[in-house]
Amino acid sequence: DDATSTDELIRRDRKVTFHASTHLRDYAQGDAPGRVITGGEGIRIRERDGRELIDGFAGLYCVNIGYGRTEVADAIHEQALKLSYYHTYVGHSNEPQIALSEKILELAGPDMSRVYYGMSGSDANETQLKLVRYYHNVIGKPEKKKVISRWRGYHGSGIASGSLTGLAAFHDHFDLPIPGILHTEAPDYYRRPAECAEMSEREFSTWCAEKLEAMIQAEGPETVGAFIGEPVLGTGGIVPPPEGYWEAIQAVLKRHDILLICDEVVCGFGRIGSQFGYQHFGIKPDLVTIAKGLTSAYQPLSGVIVGDRVWKVLEQGTGEFGPIGHGWTYSGHALGAAAGVANLEIIRREGLVDNARDTGAYLQNAMQEAFADHPIVGNVRGIGLLAALEFSPQPSQRKAFDSALKVGPRISAAALEEGLVARAMPQGDILGFAPPLVVTPEEIDDIVARARRAVDKVH
Ligand code: PLP
Repeated sequence: DDATSTDELIRRDRKVTFHASTHLRDYAQGDAPGRVITGGEGIRIRERDGRELIDGFAGLYCVNIGYGRTEVADAIHEQALKLSYYHTYVGHSNEPQIALSEKILELAGPDMSRVYYGMSGSDANETQLKLVRYYHNVIGKPEKKKVISRWRGYHGSGIASGSLTGLAAFHDHFDLPIPGILHTEAPDYYRRPAECAEMSEREFSTWCAEKLEAMIQAEGPETVGAFIGEPVLGTGGIVPPPEGYWEAIQAVLKRHDILLICDEVVCGFGRIGSQFGYQHFGIKPDLVTIAKGLTSAYQPLSGVIVGDRVWKVLEQGTGEFGPIGHGWTYSGHALGAAAGVANLEIIRREGLVDNARDTGAYLQNAMQEAFADHPIVGNVRGIGLLAALEFSPQPSQRKAFDSALKVGPRISAAALEEGLVARAMPQGDILGFAPPLVVTPEEIDDIVARARRAVDKVH
């Protein structure tokens, strides 16, 4: 109740909740901070004690339409009064699910056939892995099942989706990755290996594609079933691909008849200024993973968009083997779907994809102006409303800080003191920005000014 102090609430929380990505012992013992968020409006969130913060990361880059949108709350409420839930197995549907699937396929463009729903990006990628196996079994290539992901990719944190993720922190002590999931080079031009030091971006892209080719040859092309990637590396450090990267990668995949899964959990629904990242980069995926921006996190909802090529085989398979053995209780949940429909309508009506492109360009420019020559900023990068600063003690040498100095987390903490949430990315000293897509140029100026004060404080 309101009379309980926030400190008391957090004390209780420390005893009962297991928090994601948290130093569990420090939190339990009171050595790591806790916060209770109670409200939000536009790009701002409010702590229980009334302090307002600019959310420069839109939650976990998901609250794309901003906080406090009553229109979405109303849509969920109305649907709940009608029907909160009925399962979607064996052909049962609900009205918002039908409307949402039509809308998604319209945005996804040609060659996309159906949408399967889940609750999180992680479970959607589990579905993807099952589809890769099923597909190759049906077409009579049961040995073609290995999946290649990238180092620094992020695809979730389950057993299989966490294996697709290419970040050590998500593998270590969990005995991941599982067999059959491999990782190729991260397309990070700034952090390219020493042997690539003299390469142009294009040459580096060719090098990445050659590395992929070599891995496929070493494994045997007949054993590699799919490749998965985010159009722009997200949690691995917000890294737009080097010039020509996707073209070069797709040529390799095509040569070996390998399915391409585009993980659009971050890029999908406008984040980089196009409906989907694959449309921006000219990628032709067979399967697409969506979540986050699909509902702007007003409800947990994810999806797998199945392209024609895979869909035909799924139909053929069920013709041979009967109903597909895959389903979640909450697939196509009516409240999630209602939130999705209302969210996509707001994005359309308010032109938020165009805003991500235009205000995104303003953000990239403002970041360059504020940080390009900063003595501890080695790289300023981004696309649309995704941006990152990578810190370096010697920018001209591309040196990295000793990780024990925790420069990224300290700058993120300093930003919080400035009233700005900017995320210390889990690997490297990288500060990430992904404000809600409703952000204005004036708000961008404010975000960049606060970020600058935070960096200066730690430097
Ligand atoms: N894929 C990408 C690209 C993501 O960024 C994330 C989460 O950040 C996921 C998948 C996993 O989604 P979730 O956390 O909803 O399971």
